[in-house]
Amino acid sequence: MLEELIRSWDGEEVVVRFDQPTDSWIFICIHSRRRGPAGGGTRMKTYSSPTEALRDAMRLAAAMTLKMAAADLPLGGGKTVIAVPGPIVGNERRDLLLRYAHLVDSLGGNFHTGPDINTTPADMDVIGERCSYVVCRSPEHGGSGDPGPYTAQGVFHGIKASVRNVFGSDDLSGRVCLVQGVGDVGSRLADQLAAAGAQVLVSDIAAERAGSIGNRIGAEVIPPDDAIGVECDVYAPCALGGTLNAETIPRLRCRIVAGSANNQLAEPADARRLLEAGILYAPDFVINAGGVLYAWGREALGWTLDSIEARLAGIGDTLREIYTTAAAEGKTTEATAEALAHSRLDLPVLSPGA
Ligand code: NAD
Repeated sequence: MLEELIRSWDGEEVVVRFDQPTDSWIFICIHSRRRGPAGGGTRMKTYSSPTEALRDAMRLAAAMTLKMAAADLPLGGGKTVIAVPGPIVGNERRDLLLRYAHLVDSLGGNFHTGPDINTTPADMDVIGERCSYVVCRSPEHGGSGDPGPYTAQGVFHGIKASVRNVFGSDDLSGRVCLVQGVGDVGSRLADQLAAAGAQVLVSDIAAERAGSIGNRIGAEVIPPDDAIGVECDVYAPCALGGTLNAETIPRLRCRIVAGSANNQLAEPADARRLLEAGILYAPDFVINAGGVLYAWGREALGWTLDSIEARLAGIGDTLREIYTTAAAEGKTTEATAEALAHSRLDLPVLSPGA
């Protein structure tokens, strides 16, 4: 099964390592280096099987190719999944990360990594002990730290552009915005939406977290199982992927879907389902690029914070362009965004610092 999956993939390379001491599978998927070395996070998670983990890594790596191209970064797409049997902590985690770092280092710069679900800047510090192809180490270790706030800022710009497209003005006051998943990105997004005058609703399977953020910004807390059917202007998925599918889309009561989660569409046909339901969809790999713009901009390309902020605002401009083209051509916003990214795969890329 693993062999079939690898052979059928349209990416460039898959590195497979079984880590005996922790009973974990490591899959490094390099999807494309056409724009530069492959960049993508390291996700640590428990899966039902190694095949499922590899499938996830492949999908995420392909999405990174689109994300880097849409963001006009001189990088290709890749991703690592470390499929663990359960939580790995303490020295066991450190040793696993050091062995993983050695593996990344052996790729000679073809793959650069950073944090993702269940990995942190502290984990990047450990990887950085053995390998220089890593971003988002903690500032004490010379890195740019947590990219979450910048991802949130990019999503905020994307929501404003989407609101302008649907309602004619990007004024958020009184707009009802549901943030599903108030973790690193979602909590900051909820803060910004509230500060801009939106009526924010929050939902999270971690009830305590949802409650405390709800109290802080005066947001109503929605039980996780009710989130999809809530009436709102903007639904911002900031938890896990796949929340948009044949079963959930008919139940959505929003005008816009715009959030940070990766791979929000369960299958390509969901983009058309959203269009037919009259819902504007902000393609995830466009709207959630704030973190990569910040991390690689800061660490690899020498961008200043002002220049990064301009690029985060540019996420809104890119979405506006996608919405206009999609409407003119009668296409989904997803197909239009993919076409934009693909057109950039063949073009010369920006030189560092440009
Ligand atoms: P996080 O783990 O800090 O937060 C996720 C939150 O979602 C947690 O509070 C969790 O309890 C909640 N959650 C999980 N399942 C849920 C469910 N079914 N219903 C409601 N809440 C649920 O993650 P994050 O860093 O904030 O990232 C959020 C999403 O954005 C992820 O999909 C991630 O891949 C994507 N993303 C993050 C970044 C970044 O810079 N952190 C960049 C790009 C994309």
